[in-house]
Amino acid sequence: MGKSWMRLYEHEAKEIFRKFGIPVPQGRVVSSPTEARKAIVELNRPVVLKAQVLVGGRGKAGGVRVAESPEEAERDAAGLLGAEIGGSKVNKLLVEERLNIARELYLGVTIDDTRGTPVVMASSEGGIDIEEVAAKTPEKVALLHPGILKGIREYETRRLIKQVGLKGKVLPRISSILWMLYHIFRVYNGEIVEINPLVITADGNIFAADARLNVDDHALFRHPEVEALRLEHFENPLEREGQKRGVNFVDLKGSVAIMGNGAGLVMTLLDAVKMVGGQPACFLDTGGGLSIERVENALDLLLMKADSDPDVKAIFFAFWFMISPAEAVTEGFLNVIAKKRPRIPIIGVIQGVAADRAAEILGKGGIKCYPTIEEGVRAAVGVR
Ligand code: GDP
Ligand code: MN
Repeated sequence: MGKSWMRLYEHEAKEIFRKFGIPVPQGRVVSSPTEARKAIVELNRPVVLKAQVLVGGRGKAGGVRVAESPEEAERDAAGLLGAEIGGSKVNKLLVEERLNIARELYLGVTIDDTRGTPVVMASSEGGIDIEEVAAKTPEKVALLHPGILKGIREYETRRLIKQVGLKGKVLPRISSILWMLYHIFRVYNGEIVEINPLVITADGNIFAADARLNVDDHALFRHPEVEALRLEHFENPLEREGQKRGVNFVDLKGSVAIMGNGAGLVMTLLDAVKMVGGQPACFLDTGGGLSIERVENALDLLLMKADSDPDVKAIFFAFWFMISPAEAVTEGFLNVIAKKRPRIPIIGVIQGVAADRAAEILGKGGIKCYPTIEEGVRAAVGVR
């Protein structure tokens, strides 16, 4: 199975940090300049405005700005919202109390691929790319590989923090933050959890000024509150609906709504539509191992797309029956058509075990099946 994970936004990760007792700056999430003004008024002190995008290096890319007055906050927010930072559109900002930074450290936990176990990391060089620090000055990064069953002890994180040169009052506090970070990594089935920078302020307070948490996709079923965030991340309502229905839907602009069982097949269909001069209206991969319910969910979603987008003139599908039962498609399609009476033609190609019989049954429901993708696609693109 391929590795994949869900990335949380800074403000989402900080919310989790806060719950586990890791100190984070006071802040508000805003999505308009007016809200940014309100936030700085409420916080009643200088702030930083931080673009909420799922890429690092926002500081360098101009995604972190300091504002001292409500006017400045409003103006900077107007500049950031809707802009692109690191190739992602900014929809939200985190408005946070500005920190008076004395030192920036790095704390992180990830999987060490060479060993296949977690690795806990601390560095005296925070606020910059940790991989660069590790490459240029490895002595400034302290590592620990906790036994997966044993976990880590406070004395071990303390030793790590000492190793990077910290002492005095801050030592036990930073040590317990690192301990908690490992705990969060384990509890959330993390791929990575990071504080970069962990800030020591001029008056000796400690804050996670940045936060990163990636959660293993395959573990999301254990974390319904993170799964809910994942759905929120899909801004397009149809794409979000696809996620809820367990199909992979990507919204596009075109006349032919496309669906198939398998991502490779669906990509081929997109290419085929373009090759004959058409434009795909969407990408829908039902995945393998089809059930009637999933087929119903998928076709119903395409009809929702057609209802919401007058450019959609036809639905084109291709199903390759290898192990999926053909009945899932025939019954699923006929059920949806009986309920919804689509306004546009549904055209497709089916191949494999019991394909002829399936095509015949679908034909009775008004769904035309063609022997080849090319013929089917030409018919679908030709619908005006
Ligand atoms: P990243 O560039 O995407 O990692 O975003 P960060 O949240 O790490 O912010 C980048 C840099 O902005 C940090 O390393 C800090 O130097 C600076 N920064 C972030 N928050 C504050 C703050 O509250 N006050 C000040 N003065 N600088 C900040
Ligand atoms: Mn950072």
